[in-house]
Amino acid sequence: AKWVYSFGNGAAEGAADMRNLLGGKGANLAEMSSLGLPVPPGFTITTEVCTWYYEHGKSYPEELAADVSAALEKIGAATNREFGGLERPLLVSVRSGARVSMPGMMDTVLNLGLNDQTVEALASEAGDRRFAYDSYRRFIQMYSDVVLGVDHHEFEEVLEDYKQRNDLTLDTQVDADAWQGIIEKFKELVEEALERPFPQDPQEQLWGAIGAVFGSWMTPRAATYRRLHDIPGNWGTAVNVQAMVFGNMGQTSATGVAFTRNPSTGENALYGEFLVNAQGEDVVAGIRTPQDITEKARKEAGSSMPSLEALMPEAFAEFQSYCGRLEAHYKDMQDLEFTIEEGKLWMLQTRAGKRTAKAALKIAVDMVEDGLLTEEQAIGRVEPAALDQLLHPTIDPKAERNIVTTGLPASPGAASGAIVFSSDAAEEAKAAGRKVILVRIETSPEDIHGMHAAEGILTSRGGMTSHAAVVARGMGKPCVSGAGTLRIDYRNGLINVAGRQLKEGDIITIDGATGQVLLGEVTMLQPTLSGDFGTLMGWADKVRRMKVRTNAETPQDAKVARDFGAEGIGLCRTEHMFFEGERIIAVREMILADSEAGRRAALAKLLPMQRQDFTDIFKIMHGLPVTIRLLDPPLHEFLPKSDEELAEVAKAMNADPELLRDRALALDEFNPMLGHRGCRLLVSYPEIAEMQARAIFEAAVEAAKITGAPVVPEIMVPLVGLKGELDLVRQSIEAMAKAVMEESGTELTYQIGTMVELPRAALKAAEIAQSAEFFSFGTNDLTQTTFGISRDDAASFLGTYQSRGILEQDPFVSLDQEGVGELIRIGVERGRSARPDIKLGICGEHGGDPASIGFCERVGLDYVSCSPFRVPIARLAAAQAAL
Ligand code: ADP
Ligand code: MG
Ligand code: MG
Repeated sequence: AKWVYSFGNGAAEGAADMRNLLGGKGANLAEMSSLGLPVPPGFTITTEVCTWYYEHGKSYPEELAADVSAALEKIGAATNREFGGLERPLLVSVRSGARVSMPGMMDTVLNLGLNDQTVEALASEAGDRRFAYDSYRRFIQMYSDVVLGVDHHEFEEVLEDYKQRNDLTLDTQVDADAWQGIIEKFKELVEEALERPFPQDPQEQLWGAIGAVFGSWMTPRAATYRRLHDIPGNWGTAVNVQAMVFGNMGQTSATGVAFTRNPSTGENALYGEFLVNAQGEDVVAGIRTPQDITEKARKEAGSSMPSLEALMPEAFAEFQSYCGRLEAHYKDMQDLEFTIEEGKLWMLQTRAGKRTAKAALKIAVDMVEDGLLTEEQAIGRVEPAALDQLLHPTIDPKAERNIVTTGLPASPGAASGAIVFSSDAAEEAKAAGRKVILVRIETSPEDIHGMHAAEGILTSRGGMTSHAAVVARGMGKPCVSGAGTLRIDYRNGLINVAGRQLKEGDIITIDGATGQVLLGEVTMLQPTLSGDFGTLMGWADKVRRMKVRTNAETPQDAKVARDFGAEGIGLCRTEHMFFEGERIIAVREMILADSEAGRRAALAKLLPMQRQDFTDIFKIMHGLPVTIRLLDPPLHEFLPKSDEELAEVAKAMNADPELLRDRALALDEFNPMLGHRGCRLLVSYPEIAEMQARAIFEAAVEAAKITGAPVVPEIMVPLVGLKGELDLVRQSIEAMAKAVMEESGTELTYQIGTMVELPRAALKAAEIAQSAEFFSFGTNDLTQTTFGISRDDAASFLGTYQSRGILEQDPFVSLDQEGVGELIRIGVERGRSARPDIKLGICGEHGGDPASIGFCERVGLDYVSCSPFRVPIARLAAAQAAL
């Protein structure tokens, strides 16, 4: 095998498309070199050597030593220098480089090859002792820190100590003799710590650094990062060895970093920072305040420090021309590193630059306008999930963060407000014009009004798909869930957390993007949807095959979703409509009634409210498809809990509270999520389905009259596992349709379908499809029932499953494509076999998750349905999946 690839002097053995073998940094260094850009010569040891190293007890392939020597010779020839030589010594940097840039990997070592002799050679060659010693002290410090494991603070202390004693503030003020003294101290420090002297042999230094790069691949930090980002351990890292160029050779030398466009706004203007007389990391490390590269940026920042453009106009012009060439070549915004050595420009790195969502949109759209990208390529340049940043307020990145604790980033956006502990308190505060954060151990459907009133929701229990998280995402409100270190004391209105006490009324801020809970009010940036957003969405809509619908039950949600481009409602959960105001009492009456007559009486009260809701929604959706799911209440969420609640219902029913209490106890279930819910309830009490069907059909007639757009309701029966269940409910619905048509004298078209959320339904899809005109995969319940894991209780152990590598992702967040996905595949196949034109969709939380949307495209679903604020994400993800 070829283990080593050289580059430099306008040529290279590697290329940009060899990133798997050479790592990102090495592949791009090779590419720049081939393009004829000035890149210091060097070579890349491939990622295959890393893999070999770990497969062979941390040893190297036999040929490697000779290959490295030969490649070093080449650098020597190109630079007219010799590694370890006492005249014109060759110094190199050793840089790690995986396929994707990865924190946790070894830091770069600069100036390798210096020792007590070569430093003198460097000094006399450059005619500058200060420069030579400055380079040597940097090398000792870096090498000792990253290769030998001596903490860099110890070195910094020595230096700080010297500067303090001599009244100096900047490293650049330290002179040659002083550096010499400091170097002696550094060497002593190393010898004390390691009980052996600092390595003087350049070969030993080089192999030490190479070994350290490979070693860093398996550090716990790197391993954790890989796990979190789904990077396989067998990818390995490459090692780049490259001739040094010096930005620290005095006032005509400099080092800097730049983006070819502004990474936070996307503006098409070179943007970057540099330092005169400095090396590598000084710019990022903040040792001195860096200067702006362009005059434009300097003026905008009002800085008095000269720009590179003013200071070194020739090097700047050359650099600017490379920026244009690299962008045109890679067809993407680039993040660059460069160094100027005595006026001569050297390019040290290029890669696709990280950017905000706003910048990503602008850059993608601008590049299409400039003919650099096609519309389809541009669609692929914006990460769907990143659009979330644009739709919600976010914390100003410059704001100070006083973090109290961190929970799960359950719903994006940030919000500040006073702590309240109950939904009623939240509502009162809102009515009084105060902003609050609703803090609960967990929320239940009865908290909907409080969640509506609050700016954001914080819970100490529950995962990413807990009630609080799901509802908050649906409302587009920030939520941090499962902040387990919070001890919430409702009785005394207190939170104890990490030795601190917060009380009702204290101001906090939650950041739903990171899960952080912060003390006090924090500055926010408000979302602005630019024209670029609409442009890119338009392109996405042209290429996607799947439709995007929304999950919505309130007119407000429906409206938000339509504004975001939803093409229908995929899930309207009718039980969510029952929690508002007085309705809950009527619902409780219905549940607690001990006779059909009692139930019908309660249902009669609900009918006009439901009809009104549906009419409103049909009107807003204006002829777009609307799927309404019949009642699916886990009973425990509806049973009265407190004495007051019982008394309230008793009064409305004119019944004895004690008898009602007994009835409520009798209805209490051990396992409500697997209990008397969904179509089971409709089978037991057909009058519920009748009332709902009547409300839907009457609303359809009414709305069609008002808008003139025909309404074709899709009625969805929940939790079906047996064809017989669906058939029975279907009869009630059809009978009601007939009745309403006769009463109103109007023809009605409608569809009846089912939610596939039990493994049995997926397996028996062929049979069930005979009675269903559509399926909607309810992947929240399907995930629960497939895994046998309750999503409300999963948070306590799923974390361990992920950290132990048993599960890569929370299956409630991103679809388990292998397991749950297999059931979906089966459901799709068998459903279509029985009814070729069956309409197929997904309506779980996964309908808004880009990876899951990709899966939906592959199995050929007709649409995805997600919460209103995820509609744009789904539109883009569906487009990317279709390409
Ligand atoms: P990172 O991946 O952390 O950016 P790099 O390997 O890119 O690490 O290098 C760190 C710093 O050292 C960068 O500023 C880079 O430009 C500089 N550097 C790396 N190699 C050389 C070299 N051969 N000559 C001069 N500076 C270098
Ligand atoms: Mg770099
Ligand atoms: Mg369900």
